[in-house]
Amino acid sequence: MAGSSARQPERGVAGAEDAGAEMYRWIEELYPLCRSLTGAGQRRTLEILRRLTGLAIQEVPSGTQIFDWTVPREWNIRDAYIKDARGRKIVDFADSNLHVMGYSAPVSRRLSLAELKPHLFTLPEHPDWIPYRTSYYREDWAFCLSHRRLLELEEGDYEVCIDAALADGKMCYGELALSGERAEEILISCHICHPSLANDNLSGIAVAAMLARQLSRSPRRFGYRFLFAPGQIGSLAWLSRNEDCLARVRAGLVLACLGDGGAFTYKKSRRGDALTDRAARRALAETAAPFHTLEFSPFGYDERQFCSPGFNLPVGCLMRTPHGGFPEYHTSADNLDFIRPEYLAESLERCRAILRIVEGERTMINLNPKGEPQLGKRGLYGSVGGGAGGREREMSFLWVLNLSDGAHGLLDIAERSGLPFAAVESAARELERHGLLQERAC
Ligand code: ZN
Repeated sequence: MAGSSARQPERGVAGAEDAGAEMYRWIEELYPLCRSLTGAGQRRTLEILRRLTGLAIQEVPSGTQIFDWTVPREWNIRDAYIKDARGRKIVDFADSNLHVMGYSAPVSRRLSLAELKPHLFTLPEHPDWIPYRTSYYREDWAFCLSHRRLLELEEGDYEVCIDAALADGKMCYGELALSGERAEEILISCHICHPSLANDNLSGIAVAAMLARQLSRSPRRFGYRFLFAPGQIGSLAWLSRNEDCLARVRAGLVLACLGDGGAFTYKKSRRGDALTDRAARRALAETAAPFHTLEFSPFGYDERQFCSPGFNLPVGCLMRTPHGGFPEYHTSADNLDFIRPEYLAESLERCRAILRIVEGERTMINLNPKGEPQLGKRGLYGSVGGGAGGREREMSFLWVLNLSDGAHGLLDIAERSGLPFAAVESAARELERHGLLQERAC
């Protein structure tokens, strides 16, 4: 990142631990809220994020046409339960907001067990977990409960109540812009539409919010635009309102599932070789930890919209264990015990490492290309006795000088030489100071 020493991590171990603990506290605060595509839980979530990051809350009225989609009515729920014949609440929304299918229509009636069962979802393979279900675009109602509870239900009449409202209102999303030295921007996006689910939803939100806070205090070569939006419809709303400015998106990351202990997974943009893709691969490869890369597919989080053919933005997706790849996914077991502060902290650092490469990538021109310039007389070669760091520094000078012909960027040089990007970038800065290199004009 411009102005910082690229060889040193920007935060010490203690700082990373603090950041992890702080993100975890934010998640604890956000976890109980009943988020959905719209509604009071979503608005409250954005108000908390506004307090944490200073974002602006944008509103889109129900019924607004966005490309091929329509913003749905606003859904608000106050209470819901199922009572058995003796009047005991056997399912209670107050115990878990996962008990009600998201966007359930209001209902209040008595019905038999046979009539009730088609409106119940369980997970027989995990009998103690509550599944997470939604029905955004088809009006219906349902409850979700543990399979164990379902098996306990006796024949008889049940009273069901979903005290919810589906009415014209607003869909909200949060947007935060940080300006940079240049007009180009880096897009960071996460979804905010899941209720009490920790890894799928809140981990991405917390890492994005902490990134925003840290970057707001750092020198920035590029601008940053953070989006905290309900899945699909929220990113589509932002795209439709910003169509004229999308050319300035230089790189982008969708953040999700970053709180579990699994290996990192980077899903490439549709382009496959965008700067984001190369920077992510390089940043992950420069750690000793194993990681996976996935080719683009038109499924998953909001990269589906950013990478639709009419936009084709250079936006990839960073996860640890991908959605659907852990049994707790979309169940009550994706809770506060499933994620850990240290995993959040590590995810934050990996995002920062990717962004440091995006920030640092430049194409330089060797101003003394006929033969090697004499580095020794400039104090750049052989003056520090033989340590591994000195050797890496010298090799970085030689590689940067050799490949800086205007056709290779610093990332090309790191990839080809196998040297850390930070070493290559640092060497380029030093050679620039000595008048041996200059940046190629854009
Ligand atoms: Zn999800």
